[in-house]
Amino acid sequence: MKQNKSDLINVRSFLRPLQRSLTLEYEAGFINILGKEKFFNEFLFESISNLNNFSILNEYRENIKFFSERYTIYSKLEFNHRKRLIIDTRKFLFKINKFLNSLEDKSESKVIKNNLKDTKLTLHSDVSKIEGVGKVLKDNLNQLGLFNINDLITYFPRTYLDYTNKEKIRNLRPDKLYTCIGHIKKFYLYKSKNNPNLAIMNIIIFDETASIKVTKFFIGKRFRSYTFFSSQKEKFQPGFKLAISGKVKLTEFGKSFVDPQIEILNDSDCNNFKGKILPIYSLNDSIANITFIKILKKVLLCAVNYPEILNKNQLNELSLLPLSQALINIHLPQNQSSLEESKNRLVFNELLLLQLKLLLKRNKRKNIILDKKIRNDKLVFNEFIRNLPFKLTKSQIKVLDEIKKDLSCSSPMSRLLQGDVGSGKTIIAIASLIFIIEQGYQGALMVPTEVLAEQHYKNLINNINPLLITVELLTGNTPQKRRKQIFQDLKNGHVNILVGTHALFEEKVVFNDLGLVIIDEQHRFGVSQRNRLLRKGDNTHFLSMTATPIPRTLALSIYGDLDISQIKEMPPGRIPTITKIINENNLSDLFPIVKKQIEKGKQAYVILPLIEESEKLNLNSAKKTYEYLSNDIFKNFTVGLLHGKLSPEDKNKVIDLFCSNKINILVSTTVIEVGIDVPNASIMIIYNSERFGLSQLHQLRGRVGRDIYQSFCYLVTSENNISLNKRLDVLQKSNDGFYVAEKDLELRGPGQILGYKQSGIPDFVLDNLPKNKGLIDIARNEAIKILFEDPNLESNKELKKILFDKSSSKFIHDFLN
Ligand code: ADP
Ligand code: MG
Repeated sequence: MKQNKSDLINVRSFLRPLQRSLTLEYEAGFINILGKEKFFNEFLFESISNLNNFSILNEYRENIKFFSERYTIYSKLEFNHRKRLIIDTRKFLFKINKFLNSLEDKSESKVIKNNLKDTKLTLHSDVSKIEGVGKVLKDNLNQLGLFNINDLITYFPRTYLDYTNKEKIRNLRPDKLYTCIGHIKKFYLYKSKNNPNLAIMNIIIFDETASIKVTKFFIGKRFRSYTFFSSQKEKFQPGFKLAISGKVKLTEFGKSFVDPQIEILNDSDCNNFKGKILPIYSLNDSIANITFIKILKKVLLCAVNYPEILNKNQLNELSLLPLSQALINIHLPQNQSSLEESKNRLVFNELLLLQLKLLLKRNKRKNIILDKKIRNDKLVFNEFIRNLPFKLTKSQIKVLDEIKKDLSCSSPMSRLLQGDVGSGKTIIAIASLIFIIEQGYQGALMVPTEVLAEQHYKNLINNINPLLITVELLTGNTPQKRRKQIFQDLKNGHVNILVGTHALFEEKVVFNDLGLVIIDEQHRFGVSQRNRLLRKGDNTHFLSMTATPIPRTLALSIYGDLDISQIKEMPPGRIPTITKIINENNLSDLFPIVKKQIEKGKQAYVILPLIEESEKLNLNSAKKTYEYLSNDIFKNFTVGLLHGKLSPEDKNKVIDLFCSNKINILVSTTVIEVGIDVPNASIMIIYNSERFGLSQLHQLRGRVGRDIYQSFCYLVTSENNISLNKRLDVLQKSNDGFYVAEKDLELRGPGQILGYKQSGIPDFVLDNLPKNKGLIDIARNEAIKILFEDPNLESNKELKKILFDKSSSKFIHDFLN
């Protein structure tokens, strides 16, 4: 075994110069370059022949002979054959490399196997059964939510320290990635003078060869607090040992690490860890990383009993690792490529299970047969369309056709309607509701805010003849008496359409014959809320609308149970809103521009992140800005104030006044973010715009530009930070929600966009999705294939168990259960 290990290392170091010379010859154009002493072909001949000295390569003797001999005649070969030979040699060396990897994996699992000797541990064994885990350690593990071995094995590292590129400080070269181990010599943390949001940390570390500066930036006001400063000082004391991983840059003060990953090491971490890539776990202070690794090594082999959901054929076809292998490698990877392979497999597993769940759910709904009513009038519907003040866009007509077709079907519709802000989704919702009501059913329209519920309610009343269709509004603020009446009328079928907020979830909301549920701005609701409403109308048609156009791959992963319709164009005549980033210091430049718009009869929004001043956050508040604008800057105009804490009556009053242009300037928090439709508004100023996500800003901006006049949106920021402006710059450049969403995804990652909790997708998968986008499609296809052959998973017992038995896999959340 020992012999084997040192052989492994020797072969590897032997292969490196070989690979390098192949590359050189390739790049030189196959001219048989002359090295220091020999020609390329001589060097290759000797080196390859020498591979015979390594007994672990015995099984490659034939190939070794073949290749070494080919190089004796290399100089006689013509160009094409030389090229072919080099490519083949490279392939051969690659194969040897792979073989060495597998040996390493085997030797690692042998160590693990030895550790597991004599124990009868299973995935379900309690952690206290592990040798060396006493009461204290057990309690600490439990605190992390780790109770049995299965939990341990699926507790993946937060990150890794790659010692394969470990280097002494003296040898660091600029613009390359390294891991360095050193002790702290000095530590400084200070507030930036130029940027009020920035704190900068400088640490000087040293090893036996030299010292180097490590710089880290902290952006955000909270990093300037006393608590943060003292906690960091505690953390980075002189003498402490650190591992720094990242890029070395050449600055005016010499070489330094800029914004690298910093890990504090215990001596035991480095001394006891013999592998090359050290996994780092999120642990509490009472468990040392190395202790955790030790425990894990004792039980890791239990991973071989982890339920595998793919058979050999599938693994081969999809080029995936067996799950047990991936679970072992994710904790103790031999090298970066085996780590990536493992992540790939684990992410795929989750995606496949997710897709199976979504598809099963979808199939279940498709198999439901609705009682058909014979009634199918189209009188009101046709009249409604005829009387619209505008012509529907092509996209709207197409989408409406898709919905009408679904609504006439005998199985329930499950559809997601995507369309950028202002593309005209409301009218589709209203038309769909009328359509279903004329078939003799009731309809429900749910929205995330009261303000929007109110607006939709009015919209419906204005558009529908009350003698033919009755509409009611239900929110958290509907008075008791009214509620009772509404509940009664719903039950006996007197109310045709119910519009409202979360209040629609209430148990007392019982319909006589609910036919269609619509959720507007559905991205504002979590997965579980969405499911709750759906359950209400188990056998009803369901339409979900959103203006957050998430990229297709992601859409598939969360909405894989829905059909998707898209409104792809804006109503005619819309001019893209002009968007500009403005520094806070130049804010006063904007006021004359606002004045000009108002004098033209237009209206303005001023958006703020907070309602009231806060001591902790140095942000502009709605109330204070309202005072300032109404009493001073715009005292000749009417300024209104809107925020979530106003009473419902006051909220309505303000919105009504703004809608009828009796308020010129509306100072508001983000309560207007979704849905609000006042086409006459043409200018928006967003304070502290750095506080908002890109998609959120796009939504806010969507409140203007709803008419045929030029609109403006100003993103005010106090930041000078370049990366931040790069983010805001996306909005300056584009009005396209899809583009903005893609960029947002790129810049913040899917976890931030979907919301880790809300999306229902495990964090691990979300974090790795950007690198594995293609996997979603592959997983979906595989899921379709599996269900095509076995719709009820009768012969896939293991899979069925995992999908439906919560206790069998920790990964599988209650997602869509
Ligand atoms: P969103 O898709 O953001 O919900 P709305 O439904 O609020 O957009 O529509 C935005 C504005 O566009 C509304 O004022 C609406 O009356 C108007 N609108 C919708 N469809 C058309 C159309 N086909 N032609 C012209 N205006 C339209
Ligand atoms: Mg809308």
